[in-house]
Amino acid sequence: MNPWDTAENAASLPDLDVYWLENAQVSKCFLGQNSGFKPENDDDLVAVDLLIASGRVVRVEPAASTDERLEPIFDMEGGQVWPCFVDLHTHIDKGHIWPRKPNPDGTFMGALESVGQDREARWTAEDVRARMDFSLRCAYAHGTRALRTHLDSSPPQHTISWPVFAALRDEWAGRIDLQAVTILGLEMMQPGIGDEIVDTVVAHQGILGAVTYPQDGMEERLRWMVAMADRYGLDLDFHVDETLDPDVLSLEAIAEVVSETGYSGTVTCGHCCSLSVQEEATLDRVLGKVAKANLSIVSLPMCNLYLQDRAADRTPRRRGVTLLHELKARGIRVSIASDNTRDPFYGYGDMDGLEVFTQAARIAHLDRPIGDWPLSITDTPAAVMGLEAPARIEANAPVDLVLFKGRGFSELLSRPQKDRIVLRDGKPIDTTLPDYRELDHLMEGGL
Ligand SMILES: [Zn+2]
Repeated sequence: MNPWDTAENAASLPDLDVYWLENAQVSKCFLGQNSGFKPENDDDLVAVDLLIASGRVVRVEPAASTDERLEPIFDMEGGQVWPCFVDLHTHIDKGHIWPRKPNPDGTFMGALESVGQDREARWTAEDVRARMDFSLRCAYAHGTRALRTHLDSSPPQHTISWPVFAALRDEWAGRIDLQAVTILGLEMMQPGIGDEIVDTVVAHQGILGAVTYPQDGMEERLRWMVAMADRYGLDLDFHVDETLDPDVLSLEAIAEVVSETGYSGTVTCGHCCSLSVQEEATLDRVLGKVAKANLSIVSLPMCNLYLQDRAADRTPRRRGVTLLHELKARGIRVSIASDNTRDPFYGYGDMDGLEVFTQAARIAHLDRPIGDWPLSITDTPAAVMGLEAPARIEANAPVDLVLFKGRGFSELLSRPQKDRIVLRDGKPIDTTLPDYRELDHLMEGGL
């Protein structure tokens, strides 16, 4: 039987402690200690059998290497198995406000103003909590095991959203590992108001972040943030250059400040859209500095497509996705992530790691070959987040896996795979998505 044979499987798989997943295809990049297994095709997929016991992978063998097996067997019939997703950059505090506060014109400024108005008028603890929990349920059902969110922290919102986040992090422990980052303008990052923000991050074991763009005193503020992060042992995560203006290149300043201070925490830079419109000589210089400073980059392709190069009655031409291939070629850690979900910065989205990968593969040509790009939504962000378990399918790895019917990438990326099975600790979870109607009571006045 296969895992989708629900008549037999729905009742039996959840109760099983020991079983085989046979004839599964796994990207070579996920195989860890078995990465020497030979791929059978140019998708770099390897056919394997996985023995699972007590929520752990016990053994990984080439498919059909023996037919003497006593344990129950589920035949994947060539379907792909992935580690659960790690979503490095989201905004679950903004999520799902679209029905009451859409973006009037789809632009970045339209998004900024709309969210600001909605936040000031309606972001009570109850409101933020309900929408955040909804997003987490979506992410979990799609197969996400860890997620980092930015939290709007312009005063007084930091006093509302951070305690809600901390409570949700406890409630979700064991299902989704959660991290949060402050997001507010870099101009606030200086002694005074900045100290209050740093105190909030320290009190809630968060990550320090801001939106960077050229301004008087930019380097000084960046230095202050790095010094605070260093003092309190915080990681850093910036929103960087989310524009197609080539004169906006704060990424270079971040790299310089991090290098000169010798800061040793993890520094993540999101978006970096303006890299996509630089001259070659500038690129060469900036990418060199980014590599030297050991920055990690996270790209948000779906949100970039939505906001970048948008003008009324004009077809977008420049798409704003940063230079994923060139960054990765320099040894820089590159991740992809969801970003916003049904809010004025991105009107769509459902916290689905497979959708992120599918769209990114098409937009940024993460194919021919796909190679190890599946790491960009799994193992690379897991390393950036400092998660205990890498996203590997090897002996002793936890069975936090997503089983897809899709075999090669042509099948996998052509359909949304909504019949996927998500295993957590070796057991299938309920993959039913929450109903938007649950949020209707929060949308009153804007519907
Ligand atoms: Zn963002």
